[in-house]
Amino acid sequence: SDVGSQKDRVVTEEEWLQKWEMGNIGFHKEQGHPLLRKYLDVLLSGRSGLRIFFPLCGKAVEMKWLADMGHRVVGVEVSEQALKEFFSEHSLPYCEEPVPEITGGKKLQSTSGNISLYCCSIYDLSSSIVGKFDGVWDRGALVAVNPCDRQRYVSLMISLMEKNSSYLLVTVSYDPNKHKGPPFYVPETEIKSLFG
Ligand code: SAH
Repeated sequence: SDVGSQKDRVVTEEEWLQKWEMGNIGFHKEQGHPLLRKYLDVLLSGRSGLRIFFPLCGKAVEMKWLADMGHRVVGVEVSEQALKEFFSEHSLPYCEEPVPEITGGKKLQSTSGNISLYCCSIYDLSSSIVGKFDGVWDRGALVAVNPCDRQRYVSLMISLMEKNSSYLLVTVSYDPNKHKGPPFYVPETEIKSLFG
């Protein structure tokens, strides 16, 4: 297939942690993502006080935007450094607590209570731990998971969605023979079959 060159590639959690340690975080957008501004109304569809999920959140500034608009934000990220940088770069006080259901897992929550960031692998989560969401901002998430884990990732995401939730997905389009990823190239046909 046209993505054959990427399908066996695996990036380990350790490699992601190293990227954060080395400051190899070219994916981080200081200014926030223009596509979230553009499609914000689609995500919210006139609703207020939503619970919004940020899978593989890094230190995405969009979490602060949505919290400032009155929504509750939940993120998950393996790098504790990323999460600490998020809170410190926005001067947000937070507290830390273990997550009893997840060995080694931690929850970092803003003192104001509206931003909860789980430090663990997304595959450790379930709706019994984090509940369900009205909206999802998936940027640098589906395209960052290892190709062999895509179906597992998508099935989990579907299990975390409320009935009327909206899911904004950002992908990248390029020739997968010219770049090894991440971000990986996920063709639209595959997205359709993954999400059903
Ligand atoms: N969505 C963010 C970050 C994208 S980069 C943004 O838009 O800026 C992908 C992030 O996923 C990295 O920060 C990496 O540390 C994290 N990550 C990779 N595998 C993960 C996993 N299994 N569970 C949770 N986070 C993971």
